Amino acid sequence: MNELILVKYAPEIFLKGLNRGKFEKKLRDNIGKKLEGINAEFTHDSGRYFIKTEEVEESIKRISKVFGILEVCLVKEVEIDLNSIKEVALEKAKETKDKTFKIVTNRANKSFELNSLEVSRKVGGYVLDNYDGEINVDVNNPDLIINIEIRNNYTYIWSNKDVTKGSAGLPYGMNGSAMLMLSGGIDSPVAGYLMAKRGVEVNCVYYHSHPYTSERAKDKVKDLAKILAQYTEKINLYIVPFTEIQMEIIDKCREDELTIIMRRFMMRIACKLADIYGIDSVCTGESIGQVASQTMDGLIVSDDCADRPAFRPLIAMDKTDIIDIARKIGTFETSILPYEDCCTIFVPKHPKTNPKLDKIRKEEEKLNIDELVEKSINNIEIVNF
Ligand code: ATP
Ligand code: MG
Repeated sequence: MNELILVKYAPEIFLKGLNRGKFEKKLRDNIGKKLEGINAEFTHDSGRYFIKTEEVEESIKRISKVFGILEVCLVKEVEIDLNSIKEVALEKAKETKDKTFKIVTNRANKSFELNSLEVSRKVGGYVLDNYDGEINVDVNNPDLIINIEIRNNYTYIWSNKDVTKGSAGLPYGMNGSAMLMLSGGIDSPVAGYLMAKRGVEVNCVYYHSHPYTSERAKDKVKDLAKILAQYTEKINLYIVPFTEIQMEIIDKCREDELTIIMRRFMMRIACKLADIYGIDSVCTGESIGQVASQTMDGLIVSDDCADRPAFRPLIAMDKTDIIDIARKIGTFETSILPYEDCCTIFVPKHPKTNPKLDKIRKEEEKLNIDELVEKSINNIEIVNF
């Protein structure tokens, strides 16, 4: 009897109408890429992938990180024969110490002589009669659910204990691309994760203020990009020298406008890099009202420097909810390492929370914007993960 990995994809993919084939193909390719180096054989059967491999555990771990997947199940492949099905279902019950169970049957193969309900009843009865010890049927809230799926060539059997939750979302790379401004904080990696989860390809830019921000701060951002790359494909991290820009701003501009002017430079450079590398949009980890620079006015004034959509997937999220996601995706522990950040080093005592566009533009006339941007971009370092 074969043991296989059954991959169920997110229901949203079924709703794609004529585009469904494209989504399925992308998902298949993405799973294939994640399984690189593992010997795995794929089959596709209406709405499911079956994967045969020796390296089951490692494969399941990797597949569960591919976006567009609802569940990854380790299943037994059995002949389409009621007696064989009964035996395997009984084995499944014996694997656990559960006291209650139910059988759920799905009969995709309509030529099988019994309907789903009849299969569930007969197999359930067999388990009750042949289980050594105490076990009862509970259809509402069972500890153990034994799934039986009768398909055209084989039957597949697995229990709820054989299921690993997938990452849901849509296949990575189906929905354009974004340049994520990745700081070392908690928020921006979560923002990148959420965009990637919806199928957007993520690239990252980090503004580094050497020597005010250390190598360790830079390494932390690299580590975060590496964690994100477990969910995406290869990630390019563009490291932009930012010190000269900050020094110029400090030297020439009003103190209470430092942060907002600095944020406008971040936006300009992200857009410029996006333009150079063919990336559709930009993305930040901002959330409305979180800090002085993330007020409505602040966001409006920094958006003024964007020549493409600037997405902020965390805009309406509370910090506690953002932290929950950061923990779940494994970035939190790295994000809270106490290395300095370029924004915290240059914070004004009383940052403006209601900047006005015309005033900020006027203030910026003191700077040679194009030259500063150009110079930073000419000195970027690119790392990929
Ligand atoms: P985070 O936890 O992501 O650092 P934050 O709450 O500390 O966010 P800010 O420091 O105001 O907020 O930054 C807001 C957003 O600006 C960040 O989420 C990130 O997208 C971007 N950003 C800030 N600093 C940098 C940086 N040094 N390099 C790249 N992007 C940055
Ligand atoms: Mg930050």
